[in-house]
Amino acid sequence: MLSEKKHIAILGSTGSIGTQALEVVAAHPEKFEVEVLTAQNNAQLLIEQARQFKPNAVVIANETLYEQVKGALLPHDIKVFAGDNAIASVVQMDVIDIVLTALVGYSGLQPTIKAIEAGKNIALANKETLVVAGDLITRLAREKGVNIYPVDSEHSAIFQCLVGEFDNPIEKIILTASGGPFRGKKREELMSVTKSQALKHPNWTMGAKVTIDSASLMNKGLEVIEAKWLFGLKADQIEVIVHPQSIIHSLVQFRDSSIKAQLGLPDMRLPIQFALGYPERLNADFPRFDFSKYPSLTFEKPDTETFRNLALAFEALHRGGNMPCVLNAANEVAVEEFLNDRLGFLQMSELVEQCMKKISFVTNPSLQDYIETNRETRAKAKEITKQL
Ligand code: MG
Repeated sequence: MLSEKKHIAILGSTGSIGTQALEVVAAHPEKFEVEVLTAQNNAQLLIEQARQFKPNAVVIANETLYEQVKGALLPHDIKVFAGDNAIASVVQMDVIDIVLTALVGYSGLQPTIKAIEAGKNIALANKETLVVAGDLITRLAREKGVNIYPVDSEHSAIFQCLVGEFDNPIEKIILTASGGPFRGKKREELMSVTKSQALKHPNWTMGAKVTIDSASLMNKGLEVIEAKWLFGLKADQIEVIVHPQSIIHSLVQFRDSSIKAQLGLPDMRLPIQFALGYPERLNADFPRFDFSKYPSLTFEKPDTETFRNLALAFEALHRGGNMPCVLNAANEVAVEEFLNDRLGFLQMSELVEQCMKKISFVTNPSLQDYIETNRETRAKAKEITKQL
């Protein structure tokens, strides 16, 4: 029923998506009730959030911070747990209706599986989960009758375009990409770019991992794979177009040639709110788009010679099996090493490419195969980094 409150678990509540989700929740106390909050390391913010939103339980993944969180929340009636396993078990609590997965990277996989197994709907902000194990996740969701609502702005746009289209098949989707801070640059210019340049996204304010991925176009590559699984598409039904203004968030083309797009100012609170509030559109005081301030919206082809990651992601998608898992694990190491000044900007793609060549291919991976592929790829990536 539309009038009933939704009971939410937010995994990764202290990150960029998590904090914006709590803004959405705070603006709609009649719609949402926070039941679980989890954080990796930011104990102080987790404590503040818990005091404000009074969840049923909180989890601090870093176990060394347990005493601090426990002590601070002692006067409140809030359960406190620690460790990754605790995250995977709190998502199964009876009281939860929907789990917002805003964890970074591969760490989102296990809790998402647990939440789906317990029949919880998913608001998916953690795209890596679908990149790593899209077949397994979507199969499990179908089995359990669970809905996966996209939070990624491009996928939310496509989802919004599809509302009301019932069984009308998608001819293709067009994912828009801002092009990031290095759009238009060539390889020679990218040899020496620094992490602080890469961390300056022109349109979006996001966490470090996705910001670096945006600069390298890996983010769009991951989103292509994410879209395949969310919307049941083939690789050749997914097109990427660079749209530097980030106003059109993505488009769907139907078999009668009609194209639908979703537009708006870049603001992650909208896709978060749409995913949590679906099927209702809730009020929002977010700034409105003003056409007079955007006299031209422009489009260009992505430069996959310079930004090889996008081509590598398509290749991983074509090859299937555990290849997207390899791509993701290698990229997670690449971003980490780039942020630690141990890898240059262009070397990130090189590392991913080498891992895709060297890790053994598994055609129909089980969960265990994915876990093993992730582990093996990370170890290999660290080894290769030392030689680059
Ligand atoms: Mg996105």
